Amino acid sequence: MHQMTLAEIARGLADKKFSSEELTKVLLARITQLDPQLNSFISLTEDLAIEQAKAADARRANGESGALLGAPIAHKDLFCTQGIRTSCGSKMLDNFKAPYDATVVAKLAAAGAVTLGKTNMDEFAMGSANESSWYGAVKNPWNLEHVPGGSSGGSAAAVAARLLPAATATDTGGSIRQPAAFTNLTGLKPTYGRVSRWGMIAYASSLDQGGPLARTAEDCAILLQGMAGFDPNDSTSIDEPVPDYSASLGESLQGLRIGVPKEYFSAGLDPRIAGLIQNSIQQLQKLGAVIKEISLPNMQHAIPAYYVIAPAEASSNLSRFDGVRFGHRCENPENLIDLYKRSRGEGFGAEVQRRIMVGAYALSAGYYDAYYLKAQKIRRLVKNDFMAAFNEVDIILGPTTPNPAWKLGAKNSDPVAAYLEDVYTITANLAGLPGLSMPAGFVDGLPVGVQLLAPYFQEGRLLNVAHQYQLNTDWHTRTPTGF
Ligand code: GLN
Repeated sequence: MHQMTLAEIARGLADKKFSSEELTKVLLARITQLDPQLNSFISLTEDLAIEQAKAADARRANGESGALLGAPIAHKDLFCTQGIRTSCGSKMLDNFKAPYDATVVAKLAAAGAVTLGKTNMDEFAMGSANESSWYGAVKNPWNLEHVPGGSSGGSAAAVAARLLPAATATDTGGSIRQPAAFTNLTGLKPTYGRVSRWGMIAYASSLDQGGPLARTAEDCAILLQGMAGFDPNDSTSIDEPVPDYSASLGESLQGLRIGVPKEYFSAGLDPRIAGLIQNSIQQLQKLGAVIKEISLPNMQHAIPAYYVIAPAEASSNLSRFDGVRFGHRCENPENLIDLYKRSRGEGFGAEVQRRIMVGAYALSAGYYDAYYLKAQKIRRLVKNDFMAAFNEVDIILGPTTPNPAWKLGAKNSDPVAAYLEDVYTITANLAGLPGLSMPAGFVDGLPVGVQLLAPYFQEGRLLNVAHQYQLNTDWHTRTPTGF
């Protein structure tokens, strides 16, 4: 039962082959049995899950239908869930029970999805390995000595290990696509503004975007359908109709123009990954796509720009965690300054503190122009590169990551080494574009992802290309041994 995709679950529930309650119990038992190896969950919500599953079964018995009605999922632990701990992977929020549901959580619950729990993540979504979580590192089910990627490492490891079919995640600089690549999943970062950020704890507000992590493009379409849409509570949410994502999956790729940026194949890319990307290009050519070499000349500046902008926004967003309004408070403060200092010093981990300091520095009066303003100018150049490229091509294709998942601890002493691994993903966040990663093969038994980028609001095109690719390849069907 645990091998089923969301689409298969929807058919099974519609055909009354099993109930949501039965399936939910099987998956909860599987999580209890197998998750101690992975640490992919921070909280399990068994009672809520059974209650939601029963309610979904009752709605189906009353004649209701829907692809998510009774479908078990989990939420990355930065989506606020009413009455349930929402930790953001941080000691700071270990005691925080959200007083309301995030829009994404409410929308998926209304569609009948069943919440099995909250998944582990890098603290405040800062990281690429899920090692900065206060709740401990998450292991990659493909090799327990390796990281699953981050910051949505818990959602990725849980779905890859077949503990559940799909999960929500967020992507500020790659945190959906990179863990998808590292664990053989399909993950989609939507256009900025497509999915509401209301109730999604902010890391870098101008970059953060929620999206689905699943095994197939077909399942990402189902989950995205439930997440996307205008939300008056989020001032950056876009009031555009949501297309039927599943309806576009079947379109032919005949004549699709795929751009391959020459800058992607630099010395930093593992040659074995380059080979797998070439294979996926050939596969798409067989399906009718036309390949064109393009250039993204400002790509080399994206990492330094991102690692100024994201910490700057984080330093501002995280100022609300001060030990007064909510979150961790130190014992016996001597005065107000002592309360702030010690609450924040005790509540935040090293990576979060590093970024708050970098961000506050970049925003400070004497340095604002030299760092923050300059980074914003680079951001515009990166966007302009994409706009020029999309005049010539429909999709941009390349690797999701320069290397496969590294060993646990391998980059802990050198944060910049980890930052450099984000080279292919962060440009989409800087420009606000949608991006998808899908399985493209293996290197030393570890999964590799191919990334597709599309113009604004062309999530349907990304899902269409990925689905056609998945109809003709079987990488995404491989299951890690032991799971
Ligand atoms: N790895 C990037 C960072 O550490 C991206 C994280 C994310 O997308 N949340 O900031």
